[in-house]
Amino acid sequence: MENFTFENPTKLIFGKGTISRLATEIAPEKRIMVCYGGGSAKRNGVYQQVKDALKDHFSIEFWGIEPNPDYDTVMKAVALARQNDIDYLVAVGGGSVIDATKFIAHAIPYDGEDPWQLAIHNELITRSTPLAVVLTLPATGSEMNHRGVLSRRRTKEKVSFITPFSFPRFSILDPEVTYTLPRKQLSNGIVDSFMHIMEQYMTTTGNSVLMDRWAEGALLSLIEIGPKVLEHPTDYDTMANFMLCTTMALNGFVGMGVPQDWATHRIGYELTILYGLDHAETLAVVFPALLTILKEQKKEKLAQYAERVWHIQDGNTDQKADKAIEKTVTFFRQMGLRTRMSEYGIPAEAVDIIYQRLKKSGAVYGEKKNVDAEMARAIFAQSL
Ligand code: NAP
Ligand code: FE
Repeated sequence: MENFTFENPTKLIFGKGTISRLATEIAPEKRIMVCYGGGSAKRNGVYQQVKDALKDHFSIEFWGIEPNPDYDTVMKAVALARQNDIDYLVAVGGGSVIDATKFIAHAIPYDGEDPWQLAIHNELITRSTPLAVVLTLPATGSEMNHRGVLSRRRTKEKVSFITPFSFPRFSILDPEVTYTLPRKQLSNGIVDSFMHIMEQYMTTTGNSVLMDRWAEGALLSLIEIGPKVLEHPTDYDTMANFMLCTTMALNGFVGMGVPQDWATHRIGYELTILYGLDHAETLAVVFPALLTILKEQKKEKLAQYAERVWHIQDGNTDQKADKAIEKTVTFFRQMGLRTRMSEYGIPAEAVDIIYQRLKKSGAVYGEKKNVDAEMARAIFAQSL
């Protein structure tokens, strides 16, 4: 088992009617800015619930945080917050609004010249503005973790930033607010959370007996719940179970003593920034190809996954590994996502374009730090 420090200070408030708790969880003297996406919160009544809960607080609103939030947008929010002496932020939305709000929180008190540096050199984040979350889209786990992802379309960059200052003070999860999610976002949420477990679980064997079982429990739950979420998206218990799964998939619990991979996420960012794929779509494309290319390295764990998650008992380690990859592809497709680059209309030239970009950046990813530009080229070629 690897050394680890576990800390998760985010308070989780879960259940029907809980948005009203904003009224009492935030001190009355706080000057609040509430951050929203493009308008879904207004259409489904979440906005009104937030407004009612904060009626006795001073609050302003910032609208227009786009999916895969952009640096230029968040800097507009930072300017508005500074003008109004904001000292508390509330993110109302999915991963994009939450991640953007995390960055806004760090940038407000930053007095350096170029706030983008906070996203690249996370150690520059030494203080922040407290933030809370009202989650409307179960997927990323951002509501209970220290991660964030920010894009900069002008320079074609998408980066992830990690700092303990990104943990929300509290997060409100009311499953009823998910009833209005379009099917595509449900598909994305199932696959993204499945992959959050996988980035931690599909690593070297024998590290943590408990964490393996914990991860397998979460994967089995998502496999059981996934089809129900797509079929009955307004069933309370289905959506409550789904919401809890997605939060638990990436709040640090699964990762205790476990090596981390994240190569699928990191090289997948290229497909979002260059070709506009949704985050989860990139994962569905990259992961099966990555497993195929790295099969030798991950074979033992793939066989364990085949046996315990997909109940495959026949065959040798190699055959079980192949079946596990097949089963994963089938699951992603059943959840409504396509798993090949060509199915999204991405041309074969993309393989070389991404290779050149990764080579230039010099970055290496994966639990063994062996997913370099060459390896990524093989993975993207495999995923065509
Ligand atoms: P999202 O980009 O936050 O939201 C996608 C869409 O769903 C938006 O158009 C939004 O509309 C709509 N929506 C949200 N809640 C809704 C509701 N209740 N009813 C109807 N529509 C609703 O999606 P996401 O998958 O949660 O976030 C993706 C981002 O998170 C990516 O940038 C990804 O890289 C990042 N990510 C972060 C982490 C992390 O740990 N921090 C992990 C994985 C991925 P409106 O804009 O109109 O509200
Ligand atoms: Fe993700």
